Amino acid sequence: MVPAVEIHDLHKQYAGGVVALKGINLTVPVGEFFGLLGPNGAGKTTTIGITTGLVRPSGGFVKVLGYDVVSQYRQSRRRIGLAAQELNFDWFFPIEELMILQAGYYGVPRKVARQRTAHLLELFGLSGKRRVKPRELSGGMKRRFQIARSLVHDPEILILDEPTAGVDVELRRMLWSYLTQLNQEGKTIILTTHYIEEAEKLCDRVAIIDHGRIITEGSPQKLMAGQNGDGLTITIDSWTEQTARALEGYDFNFTDGHIRILIPQPELRLTEIINQLTSAGALVQDVAISHSTLEDVFMELTGHGIDE
Ligand code: ATP
Repeated sequence: MVPAVEIHDLHKQYAGGVVALKGINLTVPVGEFFGLLGPNGAGKTTTIGITTGLVRPSGGFVKVLGYDVVSQYRQSRRRIGLAAQELNFDWFFPIEELMILQAGYYGVPRKVARQRTAHLLELFGLSGKRRVKPRELSGGMKRRFQIARSLVHDPEILILDEPTAGVDVELRRMLWSYLTQLNQEGKTIILTTHYIEEAEKLCDRVAIIDHGRIITEGSPQKLMAGQNGDGLTITIDSWTEQTARALEGYDFNFTDGHIRILIPQPELRLTEIINQLTSAGALVQDVAISHSTLEDVFMELTGHGIDE
Protein backbone atom coordinates (compact mmCIF):
# COMPACT_ATOMS: atom_id res chain seq x y z
CA MET A 1 0.00 0.00 0.00
CA VAL A 2 1.30 3.44 -0.90
CA PRO A 3 2.36 5.34 2.23
CA ALA A 4 0.63 8.55 3.31
CA VAL A 5 3.97 10.34 3.29
CA GLU A 6 7.34 9.16 2.05
CA ILE A 7 10.37 11.36 2.71
CA HIS A 8 13.58 10.30 0.99
CA ASP A 9 17.05 11.73 1.69
CA LEU A 10 15.62 15.20 2.18
CA HIS A 11 18.06 18.10 2.33
CA LYS A 12 17.39 21.78 2.78
CA GLN A 13 19.81 24.66 2.74
CA TYR A 14 18.17 28.10 3.03
CA ALA A 15 19.33 31.02 0.91
CA GLY A 16 21.24 32.54 3.83
CA GLY A 17 23.30 29.35 4.08
CA VAL A 18 21.57 27.70 7.06
CA VAL A 19 21.44 23.94 6.58
CA ALA A 20 18.09 22.96 8.10
CA LEU A 21 17.83 19.33 6.90
CA LYS A 22 20.76 16.97 6.41
CA GLY A 23 19.22 13.94 4.72
CA ILE A 24 15.96 12.89 6.31
CA ASN A 25 14.20 9.60 5.61
CA LEU A 26 10.73 8.86 6.95
CA THR A 27 7.75 6.76 5.92
CA VAL A 28 4.35 7.36 7.46
CA PRO A 29 1.79 4.65 6.63
CA VAL A 30 -1.85 5.49 5.99
CA GLY A 31 -3.83 5.69 9.23
CA GLU A 32 -0.88 6.32 11.51
CA PHE A 33 -0.65 8.99 14.18
CA PHE A 34 2.92 10.12 13.70
CA GLY A 35 4.96 12.62 15.69
CA LEU A 36 8.07 14.56 14.74
CA LEU A 37 9.60 15.44 18.07
CA GLY A 38 12.46 17.88 18.45
CA PRO A 39 13.66 21.13 19.98
CA ASN A 40 13.33 24.60 18.44
CA GLY A 41 15.32 24.88 15.25
CA ALA A 42 15.62 21.11 14.72
CA GLY A 43 14.03 21.25 11.25
CA LYS A 44 10.42 20.29 11.97
CA THR A 45 8.75 23.27 10.31
CA THR A 46 11.07 22.96 7.32
CA THR A 47 10.04 19.30 6.89
CA ILE A 48 6.36 20.27 7.06
CA GLY A 49 6.98 23.22 4.72
CA ILE A 50 8.49 20.96 2.06
CA THR A 51 5.78 18.31 2.50
CA THR A 52 3.08 20.94 1.92
CA GLY A 53 4.87 22.60 -0.99
CA LEU A 54 5.64 25.87 0.80
CA VAL A 55 9.40 25.32 0.89
CA ARG A 56 11.57 23.97 -1.95
CA PRO A 57 13.80 21.03 -1.09
CA SER A 58 17.53 21.33 -1.93
CA GLY A 59 17.81 17.57 -2.41
CA GLY A 60 15.81 14.36 -2.03
CA PHE A 61 12.05 14.10 -2.47
CA VAL A 62 8.74 13.87 -0.63
CA LYS A 63 5.71 11.98 -1.89
CA VAL A 64 2.22 12.34 -0.51
CA LEU A 65 0.08 9.28 -1.26
CA GLY A 66 2.45 8.62 -4.13
CA TYR A 67 2.41 12.17 -5.57
CA ASP A 68 5.66 14.12 -5.67
CA VAL A 69 5.21 17.38 -3.74
CA VAL A 70 7.15 19.41 -6.33
CA SER A 71 6.26 17.95 -9.74
CA GLN A 72 2.72 16.92 -8.73
CA TYR A 73 2.04 19.76 -6.33
CA ARG A 74 -1.72 20.06 -6.91
CA GLN A 75 -2.42 16.35 -6.48
CA SER A 76 -0.28 16.07 -3.37
CA ARG A 77 -1.40 19.32 -1.70
CA ARG A 78 -5.13 18.63 -1.88
CA ARG A 79 -4.63 15.44 0.14
CA ILE A 80 -3.28 17.41 3.08
CA GLY A 81 -4.98 19.60 5.63
CA LEU A 82 -2.44 21.89 7.23
CA ALA A 83 -2.70 23.62 10.58
CA ALA A 84 0.41 25.79 10.50
CA GLN A 85 2.26 27.10 13.51
CA GLU A 86 1.17 30.68 12.87
CA LEU A 87 -2.51 31.55 12.68
CA ASN A 88 -2.93 32.86 9.14
CA PHE A 89 -6.56 33.85 8.65
CA ASP A 90 -8.27 36.38 6.52
CA TRP A 91 -9.58 38.36 9.46
CA PHE A 92 -12.46 40.17 7.76
CA PHE A 93 -14.90 37.36 6.97
CA PRO A 94 -17.07 35.31 9.33
CA ILE A 95 -15.48 31.94 10.08
CA GLU A 96 -18.23 29.99 8.35
CA GLU A 97 -17.63 31.95 5.16
CA LEU A 98 -13.87 31.45 5.42
CA MET A 99 -14.31 27.70 5.60
CA ILE A 100 -16.62 27.62 2.59
CA LEU A 101 -14.13 29.79 0.64
CA GLN A 102 -11.27 27.50 1.60
CA ALA A 103 -13.25 24.46 0.42
CA GLY A 104 -13.76 26.32 -2.85
CA TYR A 105 -9.98 26.58 -3.42
CA TYR A 106 -9.90 22.81 -3.40
CA GLY A 107 -12.83 22.46 -5.77
CA VAL A 108 -15.39 21.28 -3.22
CA PRO A 109 -18.93 22.08 -4.45
CA ARG A 110 -20.58 24.82 -2.40
CA LYS A 111 -23.39 22.62 -1.13
CA VAL A 112 -20.98 19.99 0.15
CA ALA A 113 -18.77 22.73 1.60
CA ARG A 114 -21.72 24.13 3.56
CA GLN A 115 -22.59 20.73 5.03
CA ARG A 116 -19.00 19.98 5.94
CA THR A 117 -18.50 23.40 7.47
CA ALA A 118 -21.59 22.98 9.64
CA HIS A 119 -20.41 19.55 10.74
CA LEU A 120 -16.85 20.69 11.56
CA LEU A 121 -17.96 23.81 13.40
CA GLU A 122 -20.24 21.60 15.46
CA LEU A 123 -17.48 19.06 16.11
CA PHE A 124 -15.09 21.77 17.28
CA GLY A 125 -17.69 23.50 19.45
CA LEU A 126 -17.84 26.61 17.25
CA SER A 127 -21.39 26.48 15.83
CA GLY A 128 -22.47 29.38 18.00
CA LYS A 129 -19.65 31.49 16.58
CA ARG A 130 -20.16 30.77 12.90
CA ARG A 131 -21.01 34.35 11.98
CA VAL A 132 -18.14 35.78 13.97
CA LYS A 133 -14.85 37.02 12.45
CA PRO A 134 -11.65 35.28 13.54
CA ARG A 135 -10.32 38.28 15.45
CA GLU A 136 -13.40 38.14 17.69
CA LEU A 137 -12.61 34.58 18.77
CA SER A 138 -10.67 33.74 21.90
CA GLY A 139 -7.17 32.31 21.46
CA GLY A 140 -8.39 28.77 22.07
CA MET A 141 -11.27 29.18 19.60
CA LYS A 142 -8.85 30.47 16.95
CA ARG A 143 -6.78 27.29 17.35
CA ARG A 144 -9.90 25.11 17.08
CA PHE A 145 -11.08 27.06 14.06
CA GLN A 146 -7.69 26.67 12.41
CA ILE A 147 -7.89 22.87 12.70
CA ALA A 148 -11.54 22.79 11.63
CA ARG A 149 -10.70 24.86 8.54
CA SER A 150 -7.79 22.58 7.60
CA LEU A 151 -10.28 19.70 7.38
CA VAL A 152 -12.91 21.35 5.19
CA HIS A 153 -11.73 19.73 1.93
CA ASP A 154 -11.76 16.33 3.70
CA PRO A 155 -8.04 15.61 3.26
CA GLU A 156 -6.73 12.10 3.92
CA ILE A 157 -3.82 13.53 5.89
CA LEU A 158 -3.85 16.15 8.61
CA ILE A 159 -0.55 17.88 9.37
CA LEU A 160 -0.24 20.06 12.44
CA ASP A 161 2.82 22.12 13.26
CA GLU A 162 3.07 22.52 17.04
CA PRO A 163 -0.74 22.45 17.49
CA THR A 164 -0.66 23.02 21.23
CA ALA A 165 2.26 25.43 21.58
CA GLY A 166 1.28 28.18 23.98
CA VAL A 167 -2.22 26.84 24.73
CA ASP A 168 -3.47 26.17 28.25
CA VAL A 169 -3.80 22.71 29.72
CA GLU A 170 -7.56 22.50 29.25
CA LEU A 171 -7.45 23.35 25.54
CA ARG A 172 -4.49 21.04 25.04
CA ARG A 173 -6.51 18.13 26.41
CA MET A 174 -9.48 19.12 24.28
CA LEU A 175 -7.33 19.24 21.13
CA TRP A 176 -5.78 15.90 22.01
CA SER A 177 -9.19 14.32 22.21
CA TYR A 178 -10.31 15.85 18.85
CA LEU A 179 -7.15 14.58 17.20
CA THR A 180 -7.50 11.10 18.69
CA GLN A 181 -11.07 10.97 17.41
CA LEU A 182 -10.06 12.10 13.90
CA ASN A 183 -7.33 9.47 13.80
CA GLN A 184 -9.75 6.77 14.93
CA GLU A 185 -12.07 7.83 12.11
CA GLY A 186 -9.26 7.09 9.67
CA LYS A 187 -7.26 10.27 9.14
CA THR A 188 -3.51 9.96 9.00
CA ILE A 189 -2.15 12.55 11.42
CA ILE A 190 1.33 14.00 11.48
CA LEU A 191 2.24 16.51 14.11
CA THR A 192 5.37 18.27 15.18
CA THR A 193 5.89 18.97 18.81
CA HIS A 194 8.46 19.70 21.42
CA TYR A 195 6.12 18.52 24.16
CA ILE A 196 7.30 15.09 25.20
CA GLU A 197 3.97 14.31 26.85
CA GLU A 198 2.09 15.12 23.65
CA ALA A 199 4.18 12.69 21.63
CA GLU A 200 3.90 9.96 24.29
CA LYS A 201 0.14 10.33 24.67
CA LEU A 202 -0.93 10.61 21.06
CA CYS A 203 1.52 9.05 18.69
CA ASP A 204 1.72 5.47 17.42
CA ARG A 205 5.21 6.29 16.26
CA VAL A 206 7.64 9.10 16.88
CA ALA A 207 10.77 10.27 15.09
CA ILE A 208 13.20 12.33 17.10
CA ILE A 209 14.82 15.09 15.07
CA ASP A 210 17.78 17.19 16.16
CA HIS A 211 19.99 19.52 14.09
CA GLY A 212 18.38 18.43 10.82
CA ARG A 213 18.80 14.72 11.31
CA ILE A 214 16.48 11.91 12.47
CA ILE A 215 18.16 10.48 15.53
CA THR A 216 15.79 7.57 16.11
CA GLU A 217 12.23 6.47 15.43
CA GLY A 218 9.79 3.94 16.80
CA SER A 219 6.76 3.63 19.04
CA PRO A 220 7.14 5.65 22.25
CA GLN A 221 6.99 2.35 24.19
CA LYS A 222 9.78 0.83 22.13
CA LEU A 223 11.96 3.92 22.42
CA MET A 224 11.46 4.11 26.16
CA ALA A 225 12.11 0.43 26.82
CA GLY A 226 15.61 -0.26 28.00
CA GLN A 227 16.25 3.29 29.16
CA ASN A 228 17.75 3.74 32.58
CA GLY A 229 14.70 5.54 33.91
CA ASP A 230 12.83 2.27 34.64
CA GLY A 231 13.30 1.16 38.19
CA LEU A 232 12.42 1.06 41.87
CA THR A 233 13.54 3.26 44.72
CA ILE A 234 13.08 1.50 48.05
CA THR A 235 13.67 3.15 51.41
CA ILE A 236 14.71 0.81 54.22
CA ASP A 237 15.58 1.27 57.89
CA SER A 238 19.13 -0.02 57.76
CA TRP A 239 21.57 -1.59 55.36
CA THR A 240 23.15 -4.92 56.27
CA GLU A 241 25.13 -7.64 54.60
CA GLN A 242 21.92 -9.71 54.36
CA THR A 243 20.15 -6.93 52.46
CA ALA A 244 23.04 -6.75 50.01
CA ARG A 245 22.84 -10.51 49.55
CA ALA A 246 19.06 -10.36 49.01
CA LEU A 247 19.65 -8.11 46.03
CA GLU A 248 22.34 -10.18 44.38
CA GLY A 249 21.82 -10.32 40.64
CA TYR A 250 20.09 -6.91 40.46
CA ASP A 251 21.65 -3.73 39.10
CA PHE A 252 21.39 -1.55 42.21
CA ASN A 253 23.07 1.02 44.40
CA PHE A 254 22.45 2.20 47.96
CA THR A 255 22.72 5.79 49.15
CA ASP A 256 21.24 7.68 52.12
CA GLY A 257 18.84 4.91 53.08
CA HIS A 258 17.51 4.50 49.52
CA ILE A 259 18.08 1.48 47.34
CA ARG A 260 17.85 2.30 43.65
CA ILE A 261 17.29 -0.74 41.44
CA LEU A 262 17.38 -0.40 37.65
CA ILE A 263 14.94 -2.85 36.15
CA PRO A 264 12.60 -2.82 33.16
CA GLN A 265 8.88 -3.08 34.00
CA PRO A 266 9.59 -2.66 37.72
CA GLU A 267 5.97 -3.27 38.77
CA LEU A 268 6.26 -6.94 37.74
CA ARG A 269 9.10 -7.58 40.20
CA LEU A 270 7.99 -5.34 43.02
CA THR A 271 6.44 -7.96 45.32
CA GLU A 272 9.28 -10.38 44.83
CA ILE A 273 11.92 -7.78 45.70
CA ILE A 274 10.05 -6.51 48.76
CA ASN A 275 9.67 -10.12 49.99
CA GLN A 276 13.39 -10.76 49.52
CA LEU A 277 14.29 -7.61 51.46
CA THR A 278 11.83 -8.38 54.25
CA SER A 279 13.10 -11.97 54.54
CA ALA A 280 16.61 -10.51 54.86
CA GLY A 281 15.43 -8.55 57.90
CA ALA A 282 15.03 -5.09 56.34
CA LEU A 283 12.08 -2.89 57.25
CA VAL A 284 10.71 -1.37 54.03
CA GLN A 285 9.53 2.18 54.69
CA ASP A 286 8.73 3.48 51.23
CA VAL A 287 8.64 2.31 47.61
CA ALA A 288 8.57 4.39 44.42
CA ILE A 289 8.27 3.10 40.87
CA SER A 290 9.76 5.16 38.04
CA HIS A 291 9.49 4.86 34.30
CA SER A 292 11.56 6.21 31.43
CA THR A 293 10.12 9.02 29.39
CA LEU A 294 10.85 10.14 25.87
CA GLU A 295 12.80 12.95 27.53
CA ASP A 296 15.24 10.28 28.83
CA VAL A 297 15.49 8.86 25.30
CA PHE A 298 16.09 12.33 23.92
CA MET A 299 18.76 13.10 26.52
CA GLU A 300 20.48 9.78 25.99
CA LEU A 301 20.66 10.20 22.22
CA THR A 302 21.41 13.90 21.86
CA GLY A 303 23.26 14.68 25.06
CA HIS A 304 20.93 17.61 25.77
CA GLY A 305 17.37 18.22 26.94
CA ILE A 306 14.63 19.07 24.45
CA ASP A 307 14.16 22.59 25.81
CA GLU A 308 17.85 23.47 25.93
P1 ATP B 1 10.61 25.56 15.78
O1 ATP B 1 9.95 24.57 16.65
O2 ATP B 1 11.33 26.64 16.54
O3 ATP B 1 9.77 26.07 14.67
P2 ATP B 1 11.81 23.74 13.91
O4 ATP B 1 12.26 22.42 14.40
O5 ATP B 1 10.49 23.81 13.25
O6 ATP B 1 11.85 24.79 15.10
P3 ATP B 1 12.81 25.01 11.54
O7 ATP B 1 11.85 26.14 11.63
O8 ATP B 1 12.60 24.01 10.48
O9 ATP B 1 12.94 24.26 12.94
O10 ATP B 1 14.28 25.63 11.38
C1 ATP B 1 15.43 24.84 11.13
C2 ATP B 1 16.60 25.78 10.89
O11 ATP B 1 16.40 26.50 9.67
C3 ATP B 1 16.78 26.84 11.96
O12 ATP B 1 18.16 27.04 12.13
C4 ATP B 1 16.12 28.06 11.37
O13 ATP B 1 16.71 29.24 11.88
C5 ATP B 1 16.41 27.91 9.89
N1 ATP B 1 15.36 28.51 9.04
C6 ATP B 1 14.05 28.24 9.06
N2 ATP B 1 13.38 28.94 8.12
C7 ATP B 1 14.31 29.70 7.49
C8 ATP B 1 14.28 30.65 6.41
N3 ATP B 1 13.13 30.94 5.80
N4 ATP B 1 15.44 31.21 6.03
C9 ATP B 1 16.59 30.91 6.64
N5 ATP B 1 16.71 30.02 7.65
C10 ATP B 1 15.59 29.42 8.09
